[in-house]
Amino acid sequence: MIDAIVSVIAQGRSFLVASHGNPDGDALASTLALSIALREMGKEVVAYNRDGMSAEMAFLPEAASVIDRLDEGRSFDVGFVLDSGELNRAGTFLRNRCTTLVNVDHHPKSEDFGDIYYVDEKCCASGALIYRILQATGHAVSLPVATCIYAAILADTGSFRYANADQEAFRIASEMLALGVCSWEVSSSMYENHPECQLRLLAAALKTLKVSDCGRLGSICVTQQMFLDTGTGSEHTDGLVNYPRSIGGVLVALLFREVTERCFKVSFRSKGAINVGELARQLGGGGHHNAAGTTLEGDLESIQETVLSRLQDFLP
Ligand code: 5GP
Ligand code: MN
Repeated sequence: MIDAIVSVIAQGRSFLVASHGNPDGDALASTLALSIALREMGKEVVAYNRDGMSAEMAFLPEAASVIDRLDEGRSFDVGFVLDSGELNRAGTFLRNRCTTLVNVDHHPKSEDFGDIYYVDEKCCASGALIYRILQATGHAVSLPVATCIYAAILADTGSFRYANADQEAFRIASEMLALGVCSWEVSSSMYENHPECQLRLLAAALKTLKVSDCGRLGSICVTQQMFLDTGTGSEHTDGLVNYPRSIGGVLVALLFREVTERCFKVSFRSKGAINVGELARQLGGGGHHNAAGTTLEGDLESIQETVLSRLQDFLP
């Protein structure tokens, strides 16, 4: 598959690089890594995300180049959809805008929507897949590209703490440092640069913390009222679900985020063998073994009931 990608890169002139909406660090950093490298190769490149750049990743090189609207009728020789699991998470309309569409992803059961399917669910981050692709093209990785690849891996491995922090993650990270990436600059930009309102939201959300009687489930909620009270938005909820998971004995953590009055985004995190990706797929969403999500309609109580009853089958 990687050979097919090398050949469309060689032949294409105009490129679109997109990733999933409500983008996390890996989605945006891998988008920038590939976009910058393609520009260095002399290609015409548009970097697109329907929700645009996040404040957290805005320190990345060329972050301002990511646009959140594509001109009507604009089309491309090649479109890359990164880290998306399903095309509709990035935008179904992208299919018609690109002569060749390439799915580059590390989500299990990623949808086969493109002309080229480069999916490795064992890979730590989409940013690592971009590095493999660039190596296959023979294009030398520049410092801006290295910074993005490092940031993508840092984001998706939870700063090298999760089970996906494997040999390749550390090897690529080490190679990026050798190219001049400053690890402290990247980690402090991503994790020690939050606006105060984000901690106010965390404080409000932690007040809703519930741990089940058995001690294995922990959950928190974020409501629209909390966003109003603290001057925050959904972009400030990244990482919240890790707080209930950090409790000793908790095996599954849940975050219920109110999107609209009768619509909730549910984030799942698990420890060890519990496959919340499968749980999320059963509930119409998707994701990885230990990190997944879905969106459900209804009032909070009935959604919690649905999720908790489905979860019973997954607990040891
Ligand atoms: P988060 O809870 O941080 O939004 O997402 C955790 C993981 O699950 C990410 O890898 C994300 O891409 C995936 N994920 C979250 N929500 C959905 C969804 O609705 N559908 C799919 N396919 N994957 C999701
Ligand atoms: Mn990812």
